[in-house]
Amino acid sequence: MGRHRGAGLGGGHDEREQTLNQLLVEMDGFESNDGVILVAATNRPDVLDPALLRPGRFDRRVVVGLPDVRGREEILRVHVKKVPVSDDTNLNVLARGTPGFSGADLANMVNEAALSAARMNRKQVTMYDFELAKDKVLMGAERKSMLLTDEEKKVTAYHESGHALVSYLRDHSDPIHKVTIIPRGMALGVTVYLPDDRHNYTREYLETRLATLYGGRVAEEIYLNQMSTGAGSDIERATEMARAMVCEYGMSRLGPLTFGKKEEQIFLGREIAQHRDFSEETARQIDLEVRRLIDEAYQGAHTLVEANSGPMHRLAAALLERETIDAEEVRMLIEGKELPPMRSNLATPSDTGSGTPQQVLKPESRSGPGFPEGSPSPA
Ligand code: ZN
Repeated sequence: MGRHRGAGLGGGHDEREQTLNQLLVEMDGFESNDGVILVAATNRPDVLDPALLRPGRFDRRVVVGLPDVRGREEILRVHVKKVPVSDDTNLNVLARGTPGFSGADLANMVNEAALSAARMNRKQVTMYDFELAKDKVLMGAERKSMLLTDEEKKVTAYHESGHALVSYLRDHSDPIHKVTIIPRGMALGVTVYLPDDRHNYTREYLETRLATLYGGRVAEEIYLNQMSTGAGSDIERATEMARAMVCEYGMSRLGPLTFGKKEEQIFLGREIAQHRDFSEETARQIDLEVRRLIDEAYQGAHTLVEANSGPMHRLAAALLERETIDAEEVRMLIEGKELPPMRSNLATPSDTGSGTPQQVLKPESRSGPGFPEGSPSPA
């Protein structure tokens, strides 16, 4: 209702604008000693009518972003009130392991954990259930019924191994959470990272992300001598990121300028038009810079994946055998260590929490619904 007036098609006499006018008039009617506090919420502060934000109207702003680690712990505390949890449940560990989760994600996680416990006929929700639930929220539900051919499994295993290897070997990358070739959502396989609670990204970080995104494609090229559609979304995201580095963040030879103003058409959806404020010549240079960033990332990934054939074959073989490997197993495989025998998938932890097979999160390891590097099905 508080959208910018006069910005749409048609005149200023539609019902919505009249309502906003009336609201503004009424708000001017409050005296300062009336003790009336008017609270409003919006997800689109960018399209608000400026008149709403003048002093005396909505003049205090409280920005509610994603919760930080303390916020997540408190939010979890609210949600677990409704479910019986075991004594081993440590909300602080869960909060540290879920950066980037919104309040709704956390509520969903608690709910999934309760369902998991109920499915196994347990009276209490354990940390193991929370771990399963976290994976489900992070990576999407497993699609175990989806049948992949052996060839598809092999391609996916090498593809995800490529992502994992590049991410592990490069500096400035987010730590890996898990690598899996069980189809989840639209993806045939996923490599999930544990991004920090960070709000600012360095150029080195973005360059590493670019290289990591190409790890999947180069692995397919080098070890299977083929290209597949599975890398489509990786390539799309890499291209978008490289373009943003040149046009928005000033991280290229073109210097600290922004190119192209985004015009937001308030009533016609977002970003339908990109206003061009640069010459043909600059457009050509932008394209060249984007290509250079991509080429460097691609070459970087290619070198790493090619030079580490031993670790690549070990990672892919382990994925084919176990379907999911965690960060510790990725480290052991890359360093050439023997993996401990596979845990049975049917193992269920006891209610006391002893011998639970879940991975124990180290304080510095974090996860988030941030950057799954999937290979989507061609469908
Ligand atoms: Zn991929």
